[in-house]
Amino acid sequence: MRDLKVYLLDFINFLFPLQCVSCKKSLVTGEEFFCISCFLELPKTRYHIYADNPVLRSFTGRFPLEKGAAWLQFQKGGVLQAAMHAIKYQNRPKLGAYLASQAAADWQDSDFFSDIDLIVPVPLHWRKRMKRGYNQAAFIAQGLGDSLNIPVDESFLYRAQYRQSQTREHRFKRWTNVSSVFAVKTHLAVTDKHILLVDDVLTTGATIEACLKAMAEMPRCRFSIFTLAHA
Ligand SMILES: [Zn+2]
Repeated sequence: MRDLKVYLLDFINFLFPLQCVSCKKSLVTGEEFFCISCFLELPKTRYHIYADNPVLRSFTGRFPLEKGAAWLQFQKGGVLQAAMHAIKYQNRPKLGAYLASQAAADWQDSDFFSDIDLIVPVPLHWRKRMKRGYNQAAFIAQGLGDSLNIPVDESFLYRAQYRQSQTREHRFKRWTNVSSVFAVKTHLAVTDKHILLVDDVLTTGATIEACLKAMAEMPRCRFSIFTLAHA
């Protein structure tokens, strides 16, 4: 039965060859999204084993976090760049879920996820979500949740204002206008939980900080953050 499955997958692959998201080489049986050499080149941060790491340090004085880490280090032109672009802009959100599941497996011997009660993705405004068709952070959150058996909640934290893409804005400008765009639906908000806020990539941290500040009033909650990549 297994042989038949492998044969069929090979045949489908022959008709519609899947490519490595990074180097575009055809994938062979057993490879998913990346060819094996690109997968092995994914630049891991190992931040999760350090109580003090660059992700946590970037939130010092901004928001009190329990834990914080990114799985991979973003490098321009590196293996990860095409993958992150595909997750966000090329309709490949399942790649985000896949990478999140790999992160969970990679960190299974650490206690990074051990006392997380709830995973919350950074929300997209509904209009942007409709245009893109998905929220990449939600797929990453679900990939983690499924692997770790931790519930994911997309309901209570939401983006209250629509903003144009931030990518071309000056850092200072981003800081000034991101703070009021997130809000919590108070009737849905949770209490007494250790919440892991999840996004695809951490750059200045302004978006994540704004989300954390919107959730800060939730009674007796503690907060940690996880991103696939740190830029
Ligand atoms: Zn490759």
